[in-house]
Amino acid sequence: MQKLLITGGAGFIGSHCIQFFLKKYPHYHIVNLDKLTYAARISFALQERPNYHFVAGDVTNFLLVSELFQTFNFDGVIHFAAESHVDRSIVDPLLFMKTNVEGTGVLLHAAYRHWFQAPGQPQHPNHRFVYISTDEVYGALDAHHRPCIETDTLAPSNPYSASKAAGECLVQGYAHTYGLYTVITRSTNNYGPHQYPEKLIPMILENALQGQSIALHGDGSSIRDWLHVEDHCRAIDCVLHKGQSGQVYNIGANEARTNLEITSMICHMLDDLRPLSDRSYTSFIRFIADRIGQDRRYALDCRKIQATLGWVPCTTLQEGLEQLVRGQIGED
Ligand code: NAD
Repeated sequence: MQKLLITGGAGFIGSHCIQFFLKKYPHYHIVNLDKLTYAARISFALQERPNYHFVAGDVTNFLLVSELFQTFNFDGVIHFAAESHVDRSIVDPLLFMKTNVEGTGVLLHAAYRHWFQAPGQPQHPNHRFVYISTDEVYGALDAHHRPCIETDTLAPSNPYSASKAAGECLVQGYAHTYGLYTVITRSTNNYGPHQYPEKLIPMILENALQGQSIALHGDGSSIRDWLHVEDHCRAIDCVLHKGQSGQVYNIGANEARTNLEITSMICHMLDDLRPLSDRSYTSFIRFIADRIGQDRRYALDCRKIQATLGWVPCTTLQEGLEQLVRGQIGED
């Protein structure tokens, strides 16, 4: 694996993943294809390095993606590019279908055309296609439901998760029909530095530090598992190099918390590290109307990736959040 196409590499997880791969595999050549939407870290994307090249473009552009395969002769693809915010998917679902479904189809087809001349006969036997999906494709669980395993039926319940699940179906279709070597990851919520502040944790931090309301949907009782982005990068590394074709891997940290618990953790860290004279940061918490179709709980059983690929998360939520909070207030 020497030439990698990473899509959406200017986004939160993709940019961490590129940094991780450039450091660990300095002999790899990475091309980052990203449209630079509102969510992108442009300053990161544009930093050219000898083994890194940035292309501004849209994953739904078949001609462009095919030309990139011709020019760079990729062995592997890690497909992050997506519209990724549930609230936005409720407002503009068609954009999510275009990017997340059509974009995945275009990439698969360009990869297939480049790697195979006939179904089942790869010209690039070591090719890999990794699709970065989400725990949200399983849909909401009630409080007593066991954590999801990879063979559970998908039950996405909003336009974002439905578009990610549709992308998964295309990936499985190309694996089954044409013999493409594909792997799907389903991770829980990521957190870490440089996340766009529409997502929960950076929103809490930014608003608390600016003395503004920290708005939580409903009563803050929705439950999510929280995975440090560096742990996710290590998992993607394992899956890219050791994952079995056609397989799906859940990736989680076993750090489930309600949104209110996460908010309180961060507020109490700020109370310790940068106390306000007259109040706790928790006093900024406000409850707002619940999101339409809000999923109450997601939970993953991650024993498969642990047992078969030897991946385990290294950063506890307490450590990861403390690092993040210290970084944000400039103590690092
Ligand atoms: P992000 O929103 O931070 O970044 C997405 C990137 O994709 C941006 O740089 C954007 O410019 C790019 N992009 C969007 N549309 C594009 C297009 N048409 N062509 C090319 N580039 C385009 O997202 P993220 O949080 O880093 O998530 C990355 C992937 O991981 C997504 O596929 C998401 O579904 C998945 N995921 C995210 C989380 C999470 O907690 N953030 C959890 C599980 C899975």
